[in-house]
Formats: sequence, structure tokens, C-alpha cells
Amino acid sequence: MRHGAGMTSARTRDRLITRLREQGIRDEETLAALSSIPRHLFVDEALATRAYEDTALPIGHGQTISQPYIVARMTAALRTSGPLERVLEIGTGSGYQAAVLAKLAGHVYTLERVGGLARAARQRFQVLGLGNVSVRHADGCEGWPEEAPFDAIIVTAAARTVPKALFSQLKEGGRLVVPVGAETQELLLYKRRGTALSFERLEPVNFVPLLPGGII
Ligand code: SAH
Repeated sequence: MRHGAGMTSARTRDRLITRLREQGIRDEETLAALSSIPRHLFVDEALATRAYEDTALPIGHGQTISQPYIVARMTAALRTSGPLERVLEIGTGSGYQAAVLAKLAGHVYTLERVGGLARAARQRFQVLGLGNVSVRHADGCEGWPEEAPFDAIIVTAAARTVPKALFSQLKEGGRLVVPVGAETQELLLYKRRGTALSFERLEPVNFVPLLPGGII
């Protein structure tokens, strides 16, 4: 057995799912999606043995792969009250959140401002045979107008204010989940009904900031 391989085994993964269930994640389809995506393939090999701990981990470029509990919480929130045919993600990062969504949605469109991260994520989707994810290296604050509107939008970096373009790319009945704030952040779930937007507060979170513009 390769050194540390036991730490990425099915049993190790199952323990994480049990833990998420204990923490209050009730949506079995979300849990099944998390259980089917090998998180260790989304981090550096040196960190693979920590991939099934419920923690955020560094992915280079000063960015992090989100904590599995938060991935589950945001995914389950998007699945409430409507279909999940077309999904937009802002902040591809490692691609883990997009891969989880790809198991539950028709098609996932994901935007990343760091070119190196976008390319690495695209390669992971290919290796895993996830043909229903499209990655674009671009500033997510503009959304993806050519593919809009979306049933659901997920922002995985903290916004001081939610970019207006994102609301306008949401379908009737669509949901948008986004961490809002700077030092103190809260996870918000917006719902669009006609021209009205309602929102509820989910919980305090700690994301890297949503930054303007794209970089190589
Ligand atoms: N969803 C990711 C974690 C995201 S970390 C995962 O599952 O691994 C936040 C990501 O948002 C970082 O990769 C960062 O580069 C990206 N980001 C920050 N501002 C952005 C913007 N304006 N447009 C697109 N991506 C952005």
C-alpha cells in the first residue's frame, strides 16, 4: 500500500459523511454527492492524507478548498425549492465544489480569476469524467451572461456587496448562496420571486475575499 493510502480509503471518506450528518446535514443526495467525489484529488499530494478532515486546506495562489461541511451546507441550500438544471459558480478554486454540484445538476458553469487554478480544475474534471462542467478563466463579478439565466448561483468567495450582475442572471424562483462581509462574514441565501428578492441568514463563515479582475 502506498504510504498514507489508508487515509484516503472508503472508510475514511465514510467517517467524514457520518460527521457531516451529525453536524446537521440532512440532505441525503448532497451527502451521496460528497461521498462520491474523491476530495484528495483536489489538493496537493502532500495534503492528501488530510483531505477527509472537515477543514479548509491551501490550494496555492493564497486560496483554499472549502471545508466539506460548508460545501455540503451550500449545496443543500441550493437544492431547496426548485430544480438544479443550470448552476453558476463564482470561484472554481480546486474545482471540488463544482464537482459535487455536477453530481446533482444538469450543467455547472464555473468562473475562476486565477488562470492556473482554472486550468488545474479543468484537468480534474476531465480525469473524473465530469463532462457537465464548463470552466472559464474570467472575473466572476460579471457572471456568465451567454449562459444565463441560472436556477442557482453559488459564490465561494466573500463579497462585500453581491455583484448586481449575478442577481440579473438568476431565473424566476432561482436561489443564490453567497458569503457576505469582510472580517466578519455571514452566509446568505437569496431567492428570486418575480422582481422581488428575499434572503435568509444561514450562518457565520470565513471565506477568502472576492477580488476584482482576472490574473494569469
Ligand atoms: N469553490 C472552491 C473554493 C474557492 S476559494 C473549491 O471548491 O475549491 C475562492 C476562489 O475564488 C479562489 O480560487 C479565488 O481565486 C476565486 N475568486 C476570487 N475572486 C474572484 C472573482 N472575482 N472571479 C472569479 N473567481 C474569484
